[in-house]
Amino acid sequence: MNDLLLQLQAADTEADQLRHRRARVPERDALADAERARAEWVSAGDAMRARIEQLTEEIATEEQESATLDQQRARLAGQLRTVIAPREAEALQHQIALLDERRSQLDDRELAALEEQSEIDDRLTEHAGREAAIVAAVDEARSALDAVEASIDADIAVATERAESLRGQLPEQLLVRYDRLRGLHGGVAIAKLVGNRCDGCHLDLSAAEAEAVRHTPAGDLADCPQCGRMLVP
Ligand SMILES: [Zn+2]
Repeated sequence: MNDLLLQLQAADTEADQLRHRRARVPERDALADAERARAEWVSAGDAMRARIEQLTEEIATEEQESATLDQQRARLAGQLRTVIAPREAEALQHQIALLDERRSQLDDRELAALEEQSEIDDRLTEHAGREAAIVAAVDEARSALDAVEASIDADIAVATERAESLRGQLPEQLLVRYDRLRGLHGGVAIAKLVGNRCDGCHLDLSAAEAEAVRHTPAGDLADCPQCGRMLVP
């Protein structure tokens, strides 16, 4: 019976270790990295498209303002043709010069906006060219994770099946004690006495305690006086 219990512990420990490994496979980090790279790629594209849209709005506003300036200038130019007083003409010319200056500034800004748009367009083309590789990297990382998880899951299933079959051969009361101790001691319910030492808690028993464990009647199980695990010689 002790041997069955030790085998059960071995199967449960193996399944625990596999679950622990499954939770920490590097393939999961690799997938997270690939997904992060894709998210960064998406937001870089979004930012560039948003900037192009913003520039389009700026250009429309500048063109509207330019059209207004052109109308004002045409009106002033018309007035200039009809005035006779030199001072009045001078004032009109000054106003026209101010409008021309403003118009030239608007043209410069519009040109700069168009240049920036064209530069972003080039970057967007390059950005789109990277899509296939970025998507493929995510797919590959996901496949790699799926594969390693499936392989570990198969091993977990084998260990679990072995544990279930062993449980079927052990009395219910002992299993209750075993499960309670496993919950209390990080999954390890049963330890072996190695010399005078419990290999569960790695503490020494007194010579008398160790002797008592060694002479536990058949069908009975001793407890480690230090950690409380079931202790077998
Ligand atoms: Zn112990």
